[in-house]
Amino acid sequence: MSKDTLTINEVRDMMLSVADKIIESEPILTDADRALGDGDHGVGMERGMTAVKEALAEKEFPTVAKVFQGVGTAMMSTMGGASGAIFGTFFRSGGKSLGDADTFGGEQVASFFQEGVDAVMSRGGAKPGDKTMVDALAPAAEKAKEVTGSPVSEALASVAAAAEAGKEASKDMIATMGRAKTLGEKSIGKPDAGAVSVAIIVATMSDYAQG
Ligand code: ADP
Ligand code: MG
Repeated sequence: MSKDTLTINEVRDMMLSVADKIIESEPILTDADRALGDGDHGVGMERGMTAVKEALAEKEFPTVAKVFQGVGTAMMSTMGGASGAIFGTFFRSGGKSLGDADTFGGEQVASFFQEGVDAVMSRGGAKPGDKTMVDALAPAAEKAKEVTGSPVSEALASVAAAAEAGKEASKDMIATMGRAKTLGEKSIGKPDAGAVSVAIIVATMSDYAQG
């Protein structure tokens, strides 16, 4: 059954399923960062998502915002590395934009991704095309704006497809930010590790919302 909106507890459970999926994907993320960076992205994400599980499991939250802010704070305080600060910023700022909403629907999906990616770009300085996680997040946010009127299950399915396409497109980009920039043209052919994480995160959010 397609869901119009998710409740606060459903958003919490959705993010717990994201945490499990990322922990399970550690080898994929490690390989992606080994190809272009220093190879620590998988272990960092595993550590961050283990902290997310501790922060969310069996807890009650007053708003949807607080769930996402809890995710961001757990990641920011445990991961280290560029992606800890960047993902922390994404979830905290995206979450904050939801105010006191107690449901997560198409409108909230759009606000969450747009504010999240805007904060990442202003804090980290990456633009679309620099071959970072922004290349998965920015198309996701664009798509989310187009589908604000849709049930959350459909909105997240569209947003997940856009994040996946953005991750794939990052293969053809030359890295100009982060550790991979020293590789120059040698970075062509592989996706950015953070974009791989984003694609997995949004796909798992969508899978959960399909019910
Ligand atoms: P580190 O680069 O410190 O080893 P990770 O390996 O955990 O950190 O994360 C690397 C990922 O962080 C990159 O694949 C990229 O997606 C993301 N990243 C790095 N710098 C930035 C930035 N300025 N803006 C957005 N994302 C960034
Ligand atoms: Mg790394």
